[in-house]
Amino acid sequence: MAAEKIYVTQPYLPPLEEFIPYLEQIWANKVLTNGGPFHQQLEQALCRYLGVPHISLFSNGTLALITALQALRIKGEVITTPYSFVATAHALLWQNCTPVFVDIEPHTLNLDPAKIEAAITPQTTAILPVHCYGNPCDTAAIQKIADNYNLRVIYDAAHAFGVQDAGGSILRHGDLSVLSFHATKVFNTFEGGAIICHDAKTKQRIDHLKNFGFVDEVTVVAPGINAKMSEINAAFGLLQLEHMPHVMQRRAEIDAYYREQLAHVPGITCLPQGHQTVANHSYFPILVGPEYPLSRDALYEKLKEHGIYARRYFYPLITDFPMYKNLSSANKSNILNSKEFSEQVLCAPIFPELSLKNQIKIIDIIKSSEIR
Ligand SMILES: *Cc1c(COP(=O)(O)O)cnc(C)c1O
Repeated sequence: MAAEKIYVTQPYLPPLEEFIPYLEQIWANKVLTNGGPFHQQLEQALCRYLGVPHISLFSNGTLALITALQALRIKGEVITTPYSFVATAHALLWQNCTPVFVDIEPHTLNLDPAKIEAAITPQTTAILPVHCYGNPCDTAAIQKIADNYNLRVIYDAAHAFGVQDAGGSILRHGDLSVLSFHATKVFNTFEGGAIICHDAKTKQRIDHLKNFGFVDEVTVVAPGINAKMSEINAAFGLLQLEHMPHVMQRRAEIDAYYREQLAHVPGITCLPQGHQTVANHSYFPILVGPEYPLSRDALYEKLKEHGIYARRYFYPLITDFPMYKNLSSANKSNILNSKEFSEQVLCAPIFPELSLKNQIKIIDIIKSSEIR
């Protein structure tokens, strides 16, 4: 009998019957997109839920990243991390910027503020850090550097939905923050994304940019793109939001059980939580060190043989891909921590419907480390 397959994540879907009334409303009013009623309602609901003043919804996180760069007219060199999903750096290439890769800190796997200054040149205009796995960056140190050198800061907050630090939502940091609502993320609208900004004027510019640059029927103010979230995705987001307390609670329980069970496995380190006061447990990264009897890749294969599809996030590094590898900042010696962690990390399955039985199965395989 083929074993049930367990993936690194499984998208959360509310009961289908709860979504039908939303569809009936769309069918009745025949507004499918262009900032319709569900789009407006979801923007308001997310501002309340996340505790942020302004949010603009997008069709996905990558277009939101590109539009964020465009909104602030970012040009030249932008400092970023090689330890992320490839969309972070791709957004820079689409905007004709040059990514300048700076290494990560070993305790958070986020951009290391102590290494940013050495990478700044007269062409540097911005910093694009990632709150990796939802662990907050050192936002105070990054802002200090940005202020000293007159740089803009855009956070790729694709992993950071709902995360808070002592001052509130971590999405308040920097000039802009970008979320992804992709199927694999903590909060999903099938596909989707958003930009968080501080003032109404910036929100208006972003809203124009995501709709071809249209201000009204006859006025186009910028070479905008089409990146609006549709009504069906926005309606689904409103329903998802009602289920978030359950989603967050289940993720916290699964995270806590992994930490308890894996705490004393020689060679396995659970990445410590950062300085957040509210976590979202979007990923469960473990580090497979040299004391573990199997290599990271051998453990990955062993889990796969049991139908468990853990993922090596983030391996390969962005700097290993052909369009980045020849940049001088992509040189191995510049990003030693990124290299090291990229070769040790394995993200274990975590999602609301992961059963205790299946979680125990995963833990038992990690614990029983005999070499086949
Ligand atoms: C998912 C993700 C993105 C891209 O978001 P999409 O909505 O899939 O376009 C960007 N950056 C990071 C770090 C991500 O994890």
